[in-house]
Amino acid sequence: MRAEIIAVGTELLLGQILNTNAQFLARACADLGVSVYFQTVVGDNTTRLIEALQIAKTRADLVICTGGLGPTQDDLTKDALAALLGQQLIIHQPSMDQIERVFSSRGIHMVQSNKRQALMLEHSDPLTNDAGMAVGIALTEDATHYVLLPGPPKEMKPMFERYAAPWIASKLQGVRPLYSRMLKFAGIGESTLEHELLDLIQAQTDPTIAPYAKDSEVTIRLTTRAASQDEADSKLDPTEHEIRQRLGAHIYAVSDIPIEREVIRILNERKLLLAAAESCTGGLFSDLVTAVPGSSSVYRGGIVCYSNMLKNKLLDVPMHILEGAGSPGAVSAETAERLAENMRRLADADYAVAITGVAGPDESEGKPVGLVYIAIACKNGAAILEKLQLSGNRDHIKLRAAKAAFYQLWK
Ligand code: ATP
Ligand code: MG
Repeated sequence: MRAEIIAVGTELLLGQILNTNAQFLARACADLGVSVYFQTVVGDNTTRLIEALQIAKTRADLVICTGGLGPTQDDLTKDALAALLGQQLIIHQPSMDQIERVFSSRGIHMVQSNKRQALMLEHSDPLTNDAGMAVGIALTEDATHYVLLPGPPKEMKPMFERYAAPWIASKLQGVRPLYSRMLKFAGIGESTLEHELLDLIQAQTDPTIAPYAKDSEVTIRLTTRAASQDEADSKLDPTEHEIRQRLGAHIYAVSDIPIEREVIRILNERKLLLAAAESCTGGLFSDLVTAVPGSSSVYRGGIVCYSNMLKNKLLDVPMHILEGAGSPGAVSAETAERLAENMRRLADADYAVAITGVAGPDESEGKPVGLVYIAIACKNGAAILEKLQLSGNRDHIKLRAAKAAFYQLWK
């Protein structure tokens, strides 16, 4: 089944809001085993809306619209579909009753336009709106299925999940659903990863192999069609095995979780305590740790020692190392190691991470933007030191540095 998603709203075209509905629906379609071939955005204009529906009808078996089901003059989606299909709009009485109940319970007068939210096409199935007033619509005409959903995500999502998805699934006889598996990588960039797997990616047919990068992490999504989870696993396992042969040392999870979550899980399991001394990441490492539920049982806390003064006063890095003539400097292996070791002792933790580097946009101490040292001090006295040359803007470098620290911990 080929689908097209049409997001309706002039505010989308103007860039005033982000089209998150399309993202949600595209994923939901993939989960149902429906392939989305096109996504369209069209403004609140009947002529262009009819045009968009007309085009979609020629190239999709399923057309999903969001937006424009409300009461106002610019809410035109039902009118446009009715005009295209030559159908009348009729009142869906249960929705009408519900709207009247809402208004009377709030003690406010209902204006004529609110009745528009109870309209449906004469030959359509209603989709209940549990979170708002506008009724949704599902119908099939000329072998094309149409699903009309409201714009507000808090109304659209429950309507899709509870009512539209089962309706679509009932039209899907014989289509095997898609199964996906996520492999999450750390300590490797997207281009290196793609290079290592190029032959596999180019030869892929089933399962498909799709690498993508987000939030400084690289993910590979393996996808196949199958009748059951077991059948899907038997198709996905050999591909995962082949990828592991080449890059297994970088795979930290087989689900879509960030690396910090996996690190916290392992520390929790082993009952180990963590602390951090952060310079260039400015607390980002701590922020990522504390975003993970349950981190309080492993995380002692951290110090943002951004200035040399605090590196010296709080964590005893000697001034002559930080800024003496010809000295290593704040961005150096020596500073990173001392920060980590002294932080570990101060926090009485099993591990302490120190991150110091040049986030940019200007170089510092004559050192280039993106140069970052990460040190990890361990209770048994061992230390890990990593020197990185990261690329990107200030935000990227900070995030990549923090993620690299988690990778070192995970390794
Ligand atoms: P309402 O009854 O609120 O008028 P509606 O079904 O008519 O709902 P729209 O008027 O098109 O929907 O949009 C209402 C609001 O829903 C928008 O202002 C926006 O906040 C949100 N919204 C609409 N479309 C999208 C979309 N594609 N992605 C994310 N949010 C959206
Ligand atoms: Mg509206």
